[in-house]
Amino acid sequence: MDSPIQSYLRTLHTELAGLKDGKPFGGIPAMAGVDPDRFAICLATVDGYVYEVGDSGEEFTIQSISKPFTYGLALSDLGLEAVDRKVDVEPSGNAFNEISLAPGTGRPANAMINAGALTATSLIKGSGGKTGFRRIVEHYSAFAGRDLSVSERIYQSEARHGYRNRALAHLLRSFEIIEQEPDPVAEDYFRQCSVLVTCRDLSVMAATLANGGTNPLTGKQVLDLEVEERVLSVMATCGMYDDAGAWLSDVGMPAKSGVGGGLLAVLPGQLGLAVYSPPLNDHGSSVRGVEASRRISHDMGLHFVRAARTGR
Ligand code: GLN
Repeated sequence: MDSPIQSYLRTLHTELAGLKDGKPFGGIPAMAGVDPDRFAICLATVDGYVYEVGDSGEEFTIQSISKPFTYGLALSDLGLEAVDRKVDVEPSGNAFNEISLAPGTGRPANAMINAGALTATSLIKGSGGKTGFRRIVEHYSAFAGRDLSVSERIYQSEARHGYRNRALAHLLRSFEIIEQEPDPVAEDYFRQCSVLVTCRDLSVMAATLANGGTNPLTGKQVLDLEVEERVLSVMATCGMYDDAGAWLSDVGMPAKSGVGGGLLAVLPGQLGLAVYSPPLNDHGSSVRGVEASRRISHDMGLHFVRAARTGR
């Protein structure tokens, strides 16, 4: 028999399947054929339970949800101070692909927008070389608790059409924010966006962030607490781009969305939530993902202010 959480998620899933607003991402031609009706909701607790409904085992590309994880790896590799010199921690209030660079220095506003994410990718040990991307995918895999792979087809398509991201990488190189050749860095970034995940993977990745950086399924420590604190702070203020303020007020959890239709949210100390549904709103976030998170947060009292009170 279903547990109360499982049957709650099942009812919500059925209800929100009727929500038909938004359109799948059009910026990467190979992503155009995606079925807009694919829909999954997963919730993973810090003690290792995973509740899943819908297409929770279907793979899709992680896209911008990769950004907080790469940022975490850069912070672990170089330390907070060195990374801060290259990428700021201020919300830009702009769209994800905006050229939000500080006048004069060229320092990107934060690591959740593309300019800051490209910079974070450039800071990984081995970036643009043989080991950089392998380290990135191993890091994501430790979060998910299984070996992840790349969609070669979507990587090729994004690399072929990634004019704006390449231009951003070159601009960052001209300011010496990126210090190495920019093209191999952009390739690593395109590859990291093309890593295949399931909704279940995203919920476990979120639960690992909720669990002080230790994967609740494998017991492996993936991030230390100082880095984890930083990553969640930047997700809270910048993870939903130009919708971050409304999101934090309403849903009350650090979160990250991606144009593949995935979205994850983290309630520290308690759980990770993930939704997959390709049609996007004007901010580039999953329509059903935002609505499901809103509903779950309200119904279960997951806004961080409320959760802190009920947790006492
Ligand atoms: N690969 C996409 C890009 O860089 C990711 C954008 C996103 O998910 N918001 O444009």
